[in-house]
Amino acid sequence: MLTSLVMIREILFAGDSVGMVSPITGEGVYYAVRAGMDAGVTAAEAVNNEEFSAEFLSVYQERWAKSVGMILDFQEQIFQNTVGKILALEDEKEKDEQYEKGFVEAFNIFISVIEKYAQQKKEPPPATAPPKKPPKVE
Ligand SMILES: Cc1cc2nc3c(=O)[nH]c(=O)nc-3n(C[C@H](O)[C@H](O)[C@H](O)COP(=O)(O)OP(=O)(O)OC[C@H]3O[C@@H](n4cnc5c(N)ncnc54)[C@H](O)[C@@H]3O)c2cc1C
Repeated sequence: MLTSLVMIREILFAGDSVGMVSPITGEGVYYAVRAGMDAGVTAAEAVNNEEFSAEFLSVYQERWAKSVGMILDFQEQIFQNTVGKILALEDEKEKDEQYEKGFVEAFNIFISVIEKYAQQKKEPPPATAPPKKPPKVE
């Protein structure tokens, strides 16, 4: 889990310096920029409040975990369940043969989850039932 690595004392880290790269696609620009924004907002708040303690700055960890950390952790799980299992094989020949397939599988799982997520966002919210009429009082 990367969450504990984004901050050491009062120093906020973002991007490649702390491995914010997709283990499946190698993509890292988005994560570096997004984490940089979180770190920038946190640093600006510290300046405005003249408060530079590690405790005050730790809000960066929470921001980062929500915006980037969750996505990277999720990809790491997919990676471990596919490529990770192949890397653990003892037979070097089998490892070589399966390695590429492992990445294809990881990529396909990742894409299918993203597609499901995008689809859910497109679907309209469920219709709410019309309000019930109050019973007539004779
Ligand atoms: C071959 C390759 C292809 C890639 N393709 C993609 C892609 O298609 N899509 C994608 O999203 N990601 C890709 N990535 C990953 C992406 O490039 C990185 O994840 C991203 O650039 C990380 O941004 P960063 O700001 O953390 O680090 P960097 O972009 O590496 O920026 C760090 C900067 O700090 C400078 N620096 C280092 N030390 C010092 C120092 N002591 N003093 C001053 N400056 C210093 C460096 O010169 C550099 O300019 C690729 C990476 C590689 C290697």
